[in-house]
Amino acid sequence: MQPLHEAIADARAALTAGEAEVARQMQICNACRYCEGFCAVFPAMTRRLSFAKADIHYLANLCHNCGACLHACQYAPPHEFAVAVPQAMSKVRGQTYADYAGRRRWASCTTATDSPSHWRPPVGWRCSRCWRWP
Ligand code: SF4
Ligand code: SF4
Repeated sequence: MQPLHEAIADARAALTAGEAEVARQMQICNACRYCEGFCAVFPAMTRRLSFAKADIHYLANLCHNCGACLHACQYAPPHEFAVAVPQAMSKVRGQTYADYAGRRRWASCTTATDSPSHWRPPVGWRCSRCWRWP
């Protein structure tokens, strides 16, 4: 049987860069917990000691990108911890839409501001799932 620490290392190695960034930030948030009453993400986070791919996808889809934790965070950039939970969650959430929902329009919506060459929705269009203005 594979030792537990090797299994954890294997699971972490399988994370994408975006997922690894969410896991890094959640480790910091789990020690801090200042935002635990802000939304459903933080209570779900406190039930976990480590963050595998499925946990990260779950947390990313609990986030509705309100930005409250970013504005409250004492570790947000320019702090060296660079905690920006909505940004990190948004990147993973967009990827899960593309991977699992088969709705590339949603993924385009959440990544539109990061990719100028990416598909852009028409003026006035608002994503019905994430409610983010393009
Ligand atoms: S977002 Fe910042 S303030 Fe909020 S729990 Fe995480 S580290 Fe703490
Ligand atoms: S941005 Fe996401 S994680 Fe942060 S308080 Fe809002 S819903 Fe919660």
